[in-house]
Amino acid sequence: MESQQRSPLLEVRGNVELKRPLVKAPSRLPLPGTRFKRGPDRMEDALEPEKKRTRGLDTVTKIATSHPRPPALTVRPQTQSQTTAPKVAKKTGPRCSTAIGTVLKNQKPGPAVPAQKPGAAPSVLGGKKPTKRPAWDLKGQLCDLSAELKCCRERTQTLNQENQQLQDQLKEAQQQARALGAECRTLEGELARVQAQAEQGQQELGSLRARVLELEEQLGTQQGLVQELQKEQRGLQEERRGLAARLEEQERRLQASEAALLGSQAEVASLRQEAATQATLLVEQGERLHGLEMERRRLHNQLQELKGNIRVFCRVRPVLPGEPTPSPGFLLFPSGLGGPSDPPTRLSISRSDERRGTLSGTPAPTTRHDFSFDRVFPPGSGQDQVFEEIAMLVQSALDGYPVCIFAYGQTGSGKTFTMEGGPGGDPQVEGLIPRALRHLFSVAQELGGQGWTYSFVASYVEIYNETVRDLLAAGTRKGQGSECEIRRAGPGSEELTVTNARYVPVSCEKEVEALLQLARQNRAVARTSQNERSSRSHSVFQLQISGEHAGRGLQCAAPLSLVDLAGSERLDPGLALGPGERERLRETQAINSSLSTLGLVIMALSNKESHVPYRNSKLTYLLQNSLGGSAKMLMFVNISPLEENVSESLNSLRFASKVNQCVIGTAQANRK
Ligand code: ADP
Ligand code: MG
Repeated sequence: MESQQRSPLLEVRGNVELKRPLVKAPSRLPLPGTRFKRGPDRMEDALEPEKKRTRGLDTVTKIATSHPRPPALTVRPQTQSQTTAPKVAKKTGPRCSTAIGTVLKNQKPGPAVPAQKPGAAPSVLGGKKPTKRPAWDLKGQLCDLSAELKCCRERTQTLNQENQQLQDQLKEAQQQARALGAECRTLEGELARVQAQAEQGQQELGSLRARVLELEEQLGTQQGLVQELQKEQRGLQEERRGLAARLEEQERRLQASEAALLGSQAEVASLRQEAATQATLLVEQGERLHGLEMERRRLHNQLQELKGNIRVFCRVRPVLPGEPTPSPGFLLFPSGLGGPSDPPTRLSISRSDERRGTLSGTPAPTTRHDFSFDRVFPPGSGQDQVFEEIAMLVQSALDGYPVCIFAYGQTGSGKTFTMEGGPGGDPQVEGLIPRALRHLFSVAQELGGQGWTYSFVASYVEIYNETVRDLLAAGTRKGQGSECEIRRAGPGSEELTVTNARYVPVSCEKEVEALLQLARQNRAVARTSQNERSSRSHSVFQLQISGEHAGRGLQCAAPLSLVDLAGSERLDPGLALGPGERERLRETQAINSSLSTLGLVIMALSNKESHVPYRNSKLTYLLQNSLGGSAKMLMFVNISPLEENVSESLNSLRFASKVNQCVIGTAQANRK
């Protein structure tokens, strides 16, 4: 009811007031579809009432200006402002319409009616019908008419005011319409912009969708990766747990170890203290030990001197398979003064004088030849027994005394067997050279505990026909036997050296064995080219021993020479001299010369002669430093057990006896 009674203009206003926020709202809510559809409708709706209102206004204006009829007046309350219009209608409406209608119908002036106050009119016009004035009452009619006129004028004035108001409202509405039009255009612009934005948005949406797909794909890959990583993580966690358990175990062990360490530290502290005490004690012991060692050396030397600085041992080799058994009593080993338990020192050899026997026709008489040496080794003596006797002598070399051991005898008497050993590398038949070196290495190691350090340098040469050849030649020089010369190590130096020969440092048995093997090979090569040269040459193995006691500033140096001499046999003067024999004769002369020089040198040394003929042979010259006054010398005279060799055996035994009679002056250690 209320809305129906409201004027169209008010409708418009209401709409405008309601729609404004709706129109402005889209700028905040970009919903182009909905706004686009609804906007124009709304604008229509907003504009429609205005048209209606304009039409209404026209009607009202017409009515108000030219036809002030009652129906027009009934419209007024709808267009009137709520404050004035209803009041006017209530006050004037019914009565004026009646009065106007009456005037127009009658066109006659009525009796004058006294003017009534508006407030009094209802009392006149309302309720009861005014009393009709008599025709004559013109004055009254006039009065009524003037009152009615006045009323009409007032009404006109009111209507004019209303008209004015309505026009104002119309202007306002038009302004609003213009504003709305402008707003509409703005909105359309905005709509276009929003549509462009929408299109752009669509494009973006499209690219975003593609991107989304791509990202989804990546997501898939990443998820796969994540799963893999999770799996790996689980594995790592498992591993970590294992490690943690191990760590725990280790920590537990560490704690135990730390506890043990603490205990050990305490123990170490006490041990250190003890060690300090022991060290002091050790120093004292070291001093004592050194004193004892020096005393040992002194006594050892004294013992060796008592035994003689030149000793002769006689060794008789066994009869070899295939050799004739000598007649009983050919070789005898009489017991010494101490009985059979004493080591034998005597040898008796029987020689039958065949010439005398043949001439007289009686059995050939035999002549006994007795010899006495420092030691005699019968055929059954082993290599170890022989070495045992010379071990102490060899040890003297470590104390700084030059030591020289010879093997003298005819070819086949066992010199090489004694010096190097038997064939086949059997340790039982190992010779003096490997045994002596092993002994030296072991004693040197023991002396190392007392502060001594030793070094050993080996050389091995052969002297054939007064030429020196290196038996340790290796590589391209192997077996060629390039000539070597014996020279002094330096001007004024006592030390001798062999040029072109190898001097090889050795520190263990294996190295020595390798050197002996090499020497054997070199000799074997020579043997094929020159008939049994090894038997016709002297083999000289020399070991330069150097010892040092750094703590006490002591040094010692001495050579150990182990010499396998050439066969001492003489040539049968009755033999016819062919080309081979001549060569053999020259060899023999060279050997005999060098062996007799050796004898002469020993004699000269023994007799303390001013001149010692070292230079008369290469052998004595090379061994010069091993034969002098401070040297200790041992000669093995090797004897064949065969009767057929008796002559050579006697020769050897005689030579050895001469040597045995020599006493070389008191040995002096080469100490610095
Ligand atoms: P040389 O060097 O004096 O010419 P060898 O040392 O070559 O003599 O010895 C000649 C042979 O006698 C070799 O076959 C060797 O094995 C052997 N022989 C030498 N002495 C002994 C011994 N004491 N025991 C066993 N066999 C020996
Ligand atoms: Mg030999």
